[in-house]
Amino acid sequence: AMDVPVSELALNPERGGPKNLPIARVLVDDDESEGKGTCKHKPKLVILGCGWGSVAILKTLQADQYHVTVVSPSNYFLFTPFLPSATVGTLELRSLVEPIRTILARIKGHFLQAEAESVDFSEKLVEVSQIIDGEKRHFYLPYDKLIIGVGSKTNTHGVEGLEHCQFLKTIDDARKIRKRAIGNFEKAVLPTTSDEERKRLLSFVICGGGPTGIEFAAEIYDMLNEDLIRHYPRILRNEVSVHVIQSRSHILNTYDEALSMYAEDRFARDHVEVYTNARVQEVKQDRIVFSEKTEDGKVITKEIPYGLCLWSTGVSQTDFAKNLAAKLDKQTNKHALETDTHLRLIGAPMGDVYAIGDCSTVQYNLAQNIMTFLREIAWEKGKDPKEVHLTFKDWQTVAQRVKKRFPQAGQHLRRLDKLFQQYDVDKSGTLDFNEFSELLSKIDNSLTSLPATAQRAHQQGQYLGRKLNKLAQVAPGMRANGLLDGDLDETYYKAFEYKHLGSLAYVGNAAVFDVQGYNFAGGIAAVYLWRSAYFAQSVSLRTRFLLFMDWAKRALFGRDMMDL
Ligand code: FAD
Repeated sequence: AMDVPVSELALNPERGGPKNLPIARVLVDDDESEGKGTCKHKPKLVILGCGWGSVAILKTLQADQYHVTVVSPSNYFLFTPFLPSATVGTLELRSLVEPIRTILARIKGHFLQAEAESVDFSEKLVEVSQIIDGEKRHFYLPYDKLIIGVGSKTNTHGVEGLEHCQFLKTIDDARKIRKRAIGNFEKAVLPTTSDEERKRLLSFVICGGGPTGIEFAAEIYDMLNEDLIRHYPRILRNEVSVHVIQSRSHILNTYDEALSMYAEDRFARDHVEVYTNARVQEVKQDRIVFSEKTEDGKVITKEIPYGLCLWSTGVSQTDFAKNLAAKLDKQTNKHALETDTHLRLIGAPMGDVYAIGDCSTVQYNLAQNIMTFLREIAWEKGKDPKEVHLTFKDWQTVAQRVKKRFPQAGQHLRRLDKLFQQYDVDKSGTLDFNEFSELLSKIDNSLTSLPATAQRAHQQGQYLGRKLNKLAQVAPGMRANGLLDGDLDETYYKAFEYKHLGSLAYVGNAAVFDVQGYNFAGGIAAVYLWRSAYFAQSVSLRTRFLLFMDWAKRALFGRDMMDL
């Protein structure tokens, strides 16, 4: 028997599972060669989603260890960091995507263009659906190991009128923005357009001052400066306005403060208007209503007419992930699926189900981690941790190491700083081991959030890919051979460790970098550094080639302003 399946979507004659649906017999070779002794019984690995996390797994997995099936509504991987550049035509849409089937070819994996609806953990079945000619068809997909990497959706914060907004998460979103922006320029120059209408059509409002919103504002700004006059000589530059509405006191507030100030200065110079401490109340068809808190604490309501409004205010859980969390008693986080440090979904049968990327969050115990670093420092000093007397300087070294691993722990660490200083420090100004443990018990110990970034999803995917390779070697067949693999993870593989490599954002002919111990903001050289940083990560030669061609084309001929 060969290891090549004959069909990707054969259905078993009988139905099954809790809903009595047809069961997809994806791995025909495995089923049919049962008992013949010639076929390698590989576990069925089902991966939901084909974003950053899933693709990192696929690129890391060795061929021939698992029968891999990927389920996703989109049949391509989207290189999200460049999406803002596609909204104004700096890059072309096709240059940002990679066909998932090309990525799967190396490991002879299958792809099903469909949506996961639900999971039955006890029978190990994923309920999958797809609409064909208006009819929604459901079936079950069996798994031995399941990986959930379904990403997130845009957070609406319960604001009304978002149907009038544009979003920026998918290729289709970028296409709509481009069409709308160019359409507005065309309408603005029609003889029947009044001055007031023209001003509104040329007003871009961005709700959300995070990296996506800021990069979009920067791209619009570049396009206005570089291409507008050539294409629309009748539109004056100062007739076009760009506004950013941010709820926090600074834009890019997750970055180092110096960098967010740099970005604000740059925007002020470039006449991009930034409203901070501002909350959107409602989005009307032609204007946005928001409240702004002034420096003296007053709250005033403002309105801005817009021609295009981008809503980009963070992420929230997909309905699928919400539905899974509701099925599992031990899931308590309202924003993401909780996993243990081995990325196993908490509450699901051990070792069967993992969750990675934006849809998930890892439960860490902060105090435990701090203690590990403390021990490390004690050993470095050649002392038994129990005998060490910790000075404030020692604590700061510990804190620095913790922060490097858990960038999200900043707030807890600052609180510990204060507690340390206030603590009834003995005469020598130090704390002993017991005193320090007591101090740790005073902080909120659970640290669950990791940033929702491609960087994290990628690291988690790579980790899982490597782990699955290892497990396939130490316990070949695993579930497929009827072996219980509940604690294989802990026995054979280390826990996941996030390494924050830094953040970068493009702010209009310049980029800001926030890399551990290295803050950097700068002109055109920084932009090239920024581009090459992503270039190196980009998935294939094909993508590199297309991106290179797009940049070269823009440099030579400028952006084309067609609403194709
Ligand atoms: P995603 O990449 O979102 O993939 C989710 C996949 O799941 C998709 O294929 C989707 O179709 C599929 N899916 C959804 N529902 C289902 C279902 N029910 N069944 C099956 N499949 C499903 N991060 C950075 O680190 N740096 C950046 O510069 C950066 N820039 C960004 C710019 C933009 C415009 C955006 C939108 C995001 C940016 N991010 C950046 C964030 C980054 O894209 C996400 O953190 C990352 O995509 C998360 O990866 P993921 O694998 O969890 O999910």
